[in-house]
Amino acid sequence: MILRRKKGLEVRFLVILAGAAFAPAQAQGPASQLRELERAWLELRTLSDQLGVTRNLGALVSPRGERADSLAVRVARTASDLRYRAGRIPVQPLAVEDARALALLREQLATLAAEAGARPAPVADPADCAEPFPNRLRQAPLDELTTRTFACYGAAARRIVVDGDTLDRLAILGLLGRTEDPARRQRLFLALEPVWRSVNGDDGDGSPYRRMVSLRTANWKPGASPMEERARGLGVEPDTLERWLVAVLEAWRATMPDTVLEPWEFHHLTGEASRLLSPRVPRDSLRAVVDGFYRELGAAPARLGVRYDLEPRPGKYPISFTDFGGRDPIEPWIFTSYRTGGLDNLAELLHEVGHAVHIAAIRTRGAYADWPDSDTFTEAVADLAALEAYEPEWQRRYLGTSASLASSIRAKYAGIVLDVAWALFEIRVHRSPQDSPNQIWTTITRTYLRIRPHPEWSWWALRGQLVGNPGYMLNYAFGAILIADIRDRVIAEHGPFSAGDPGWYGWIGPRLYRFGRERPAREVVREFLGRDVSAGPLLRDMGRGAGGQRGRTWQWGRGRLIRFPGSGSFRRP
Ligand SMILES: [Zn+2]
Repeated sequence: MILRRKKGLEVRFLVILAGAAFAPAQAQGPASQLRELERAWLELRTLSDQLGVTRNLGALVSPRGERADSLAVRVARTASDLRYRAGRIPVQPLAVEDARALALLREQLATLAAEAGARPAPVADPADCAEPFPNRLRQAPLDELTTRTFACYGAAARRIVVDGDTLDRLAILGLLGRTEDPARRQRLFLALEPVWRSVNGDDGDGSPYRRMVSLRTANWKPGASPMEERARGLGVEPDTLERWLVAVLEAWRATMPDTVLEPWEFHHLTGEASRLLSPRVPRDSLRAVVDGFYRELGAAPARLGVRYDLEPRPGKYPISFTDFGGRDPIEPWIFTSYRTGGLDNLAELLHEVGHAVHIAAIRTRGAYADWPDSDTFTEAVADLAALEAYEPEWQRRYLGTSASLASSIRAKYAGIVLDVAWALFEIRVHRSPQDSPNQIWTTITRTYLRIRPHPEWSWWALRGQLVGNPGYMLNYAFGAILIADIRDRVIAEHGPFSAGDPGWYGWIGPRLYRFGRERPAREVVREFLGRDVSAGPLLRDMGRGAGGQRGRTWQWGRGRLIRFPGSGSFRRP
C-alpha cells in the first residue's frame, strides 16, 4: 500500500507570509527561477516527508532530530512561501515541458499548503467503538464517519483474543492457513467478528459501512467512481476490467477442487505452501531474506537508504505501507507491524520493499519526484520481484526448500483472487447501495470460491482499504493482471530472475521505475509492453499449476479426499 496525499482539501489558515524575501529571483529568467523553485520544493517535500515519518513513528522528534511541531510550522511557512513564488513565475515564456512542470508544481503546492494549514482530523475515541453506530453519527459527514470507522477497525484488528492469546488480524489470517485442527480454525475465524462488526455493524441500519456507501455514491459523478477512473487511468474501459475480474474468478473456480468450503477452510486449503515454508521464516529472518533477495537483484535496500519500522505498536496505522522520508536523495520508509514471521508476511514485506526500490530509482526533475499518477501501476510494480516468492526455484534458493508448483501457484493466487473478489464486491456494493453487502459478498464467494453462504457474517470486512479508500482494492486486483503481463515481458526480454540477477535493477529502473510523475503510467506501460494491457498472461500463469491436477483426488488436511475438476471448464484467454 502507499499513502497518497488527499487532493482538494479546503484551504484554511493559509497565510501568504512573504514575497520580499525572494526579490532577487526577479532578476533571473523564468526558466532559472523554476529550477530554483524545484530545488526549494525538494527541500520542502523532505520537511513534509520527515513530518509524516515522525507522525507514523508515533514520535515527537523526527529521525533527524527535529521536533514535530517545529517541522509542522516550517512546512506550513515554506509551502506558503513557495506557493507565492510559483505564482509569480510567468508561464508564457517557458518551454512546454517547463510549463507542464510548473503547473504540476503549483497544484502540488496548493495541496501541501492546504494540508499544512488544515486542522488535524478528529481522532476517534476507542471507547466510542463499543457502541456499533452511535446515534450522533447518523447525521455525521462522510469524513468524520470514515475516520471514526477506520479507527475502530484498527483498534479491533490490532487486538483479537483467541483461546487466551492476543493476536492481530494478520496473525490470524496466517494461522488459518497453518492450523491443522479444524475446530481451532473455526474459533480463529470467528474471533474476527468484532473486526467485521466495527465496519458493518449487523449489516442493517446500524451499519457504518452502508451509511458510508450511500454518502459516497451520492458524491460521485455518474460514470466517474474511483473504480471507473482507475480502469481508464491505464487505458482500459471499466466494463472490460469488470469482465476480467470475473474471468480471473472463473479461472480460479475451474482449477480448484469441486468441494464446498467453510470460509475458515479457504486459507487452509490454499495454505499448503505456507505450512511447508513458514517454519523456514521466523520473524527475525524476514529482513534478512528480503534484503538478501533484493541485494541479488542489484537493489540492496541498505545501499538505497531504505528505512524500516516493523514493530507493532498501539495506535499504529493498521495497514502496511511505504512512503517517502525525504526527496533529495530519496529515502524510502516502510511501516508494517509483524508479530510473527511466515510466508505470508514475507510476501508482504517483499511487496513493501518493492515499493521502496521503485521510488529509490526515480530519476527525474524536482517537480516530478513523486509516486506515479496511477496507484494501480504503483501497486503492480511493487510485486514485480515480490511474486518470485511463489516460484519453487526462488523458495529453494532463499528458504532452503520448496513447495510444489501447484501449491505455490494456489498460494499466490489465493491472495489475488480474494483481492479480485473484494474489488468486484466494491463495484457491486456501490452500484446497488440499497442491497446488503453481506448478501453481495456471499454471492461472489459462493459462486467463484465455493464458500458456504454465511450472509449472517460480514466476513468481507477484513481490509482497512474498504473503509478508508474506496476503490483501492481494485489497485491490487487490476494490479495483479497488469503485473502478470509485465513480469511475462520482463522474463521474455531480460530473462528469469528467481535466483537473483545483479543486472536486474539497472535494466528495470530506466524502463519502469524512473519516471515518477514525468510520464503518465499509462504511457510507460504501453511503451514497455508494446501494446495495451491484457489479462492473458495472468490467466495462463494461473493455469501453470493446474495442469497436473485435473481429475485427481487430493488428500487435504486430516485425511479428507477432495477432487479436482476433470477438464473443460478452464477458460483460455
Ligand atoms: Zn502496496
